[in-house]
Amino acid sequence: MPLPKQKHTKSHRNRRRSHHALKVLKLASCPKCGQAVLPHQVCRNCGSYQNREVIDILAKLTKKEQKKKAKELETQEHEQEHKEEK
Ligand SMILES: [Zn+2]
Repeated sequence: MPLPKQKHTKSHRNRRRSHHALKVLKLASCPKCGQAVLPHQVCRNCGSYQNREVIDILAKLTKKEQKKKAKELETQEHEQEHKEEK
């Protein structure tokens, strides 16, 4: 049996869309490299979680990229140590 077409009033539409707003992401900072990370998740920049290395982020890169990334991480860690001293 064919259903009658539903009527969509402005009120109905607006009430439906009242739940469509986006929420602001809640970010923490990585204790090792200081990058913004999602809470309860591995840091995508240095691959550490709870102060230990969980994933090897250099494994997927080429040799040239590996060298660059390793240097980058080293400087970030040094910066983080200087922050903690202050
Ligand atoms: Zn990190």
